[in-house]
Amino acid sequence: MKTFKVAVLKGDGIGPEIVNSTLEVLRVIEDLFEVKFEFREGLIGGTAIDKTGTPLPEETLKLCKESDAVLLGAVGGPKWDNLPTDKRPEKGLLRIRKELDLYANLRPAKVWEPLIDSSPLKPEVVRGTDMLVVRELTGDVYYGEPRGVFEENGKRVGINTMRYTEDEIRRVAVKAFEIARKRRKKLTSVDKSNVLEVSGLWKEVVEEVHKDYPDVELEHLYVDNCAMQLVRRPSSFDVIVTGNIFGDILSDEAGVVVGSLGMLPSASVGDRYALYEPVHGSAPDIAGQGIANPIATILSASMMLKYSFGMDQAGELIEKAVEKTLEEGYRTPDIYSEGTKKVGTEEMTAQIIKNLKELKR
Ligand code: NAD
Repeated sequence: MKTFKVAVLKGDGIGPEIVNSTLEVLRVIEDLFEVKFEFREGLIGGTAIDKTGTPLPEETLKLCKESDAVLLGAVGGPKWDNLPTDKRPEKGLLRIRKELDLYANLRPAKVWEPLIDSSPLKPEVVRGTDMLVVRELTGDVYYGEPRGVFEENGKRVGINTMRYTEDEIRRVAVKAFEIARKRRKKLTSVDKSNVLEVSGLWKEVVEEVHKDYPDVELEHLYVDNCAMQLVRRPSSFDVIVTGNIFGDILSDEAGVVVGSLGMLPSASVGDRYALYEPVHGSAPDIAGQGIANPIATILSASMMLKYSFGMDQAGELIEKAVEKTLEEGYRTPDIYSEGTKKVGTEEMTAQIIKNLKELKR
């Protein structure tokens, strides 16, 4: 039987609750698909600070490097808000991404028909939207040198540098083409090549990579135009690939177009390692109440099955089970609307599991 090692970092706030739900779902996948998951827990975030004095203990990093994938809840909370920036829980997250060289951030944004009214857009505009933004995560203006605030002729000047090497562009483009090939075979590359040289290089390299993927349709959009098209015709997008800063903005825009924060999964992947986590934070305002929406984390595990373990069918089954549960009217409070059934984390998980088993039959 195939065995996969999963490092489980529950983190803070609602992290433990939503990760526990997800582990329950994965245990059922074990039975349905005859695989074995070895879950090994590590500390991260505020909980790690309390127990070890650091948000990312070396032991956790080692555990992640020895695993086939990492499943993370969320980190942070008011208890640790007053620590100096380099000692805060979020620092653990930034460091783990860097240490594992996770250079591509995958953010799917899909409209769930039963929740279509939670989109700020008209149902007829948003219906059928199912896209995935691939954001480059380790380069661009966030890391480029020179940077800083300097003095010039007695006046302050702030400088950041947008910088990409062709290798950095190529590796994220390859990832995006590979993903598009597994989906609807359409890739939109987003840049600002009408004014930025670095974007000109981006476009050129993406076109070079396209030669290896002739079966995938490629379009180029300027970032300003893309921001408009995302709200005008969101359902026309399949995979979008872009740099770090444009992706930062566009992936949030894509998320809000489809609705609720509690439904958005993500993955950060590199050549060797991958980390899966919900987009939302640790929601300290509702932690410990048993009402957190576990779906974003469960869908992150579905991405793990698809992208790290090659278990596409199992990943899709989870999505279908989530959809069926929503169709049946089950809602955690964050996505509740009149006429639906309000349930807590445990019951939502139980319903998803029931549907998983039924759909597999
Ligand atoms: P948040 O995403 O934690 O919460 C925003 C709002 O959405 C809250 O009202 C919360 O109750 C609700 N919410 C979020 N996820 C939910 C879920 N699964 N089910 C039901 N409701 C949900 O953002 P925030 O309040 O700005 O941040 C709280 C803490 O989380 C901070 O310490 C922040 O730094 C941290 N944070 C961590 C991550 C991460 O771990 N990746 C990401 C964002 C924020």
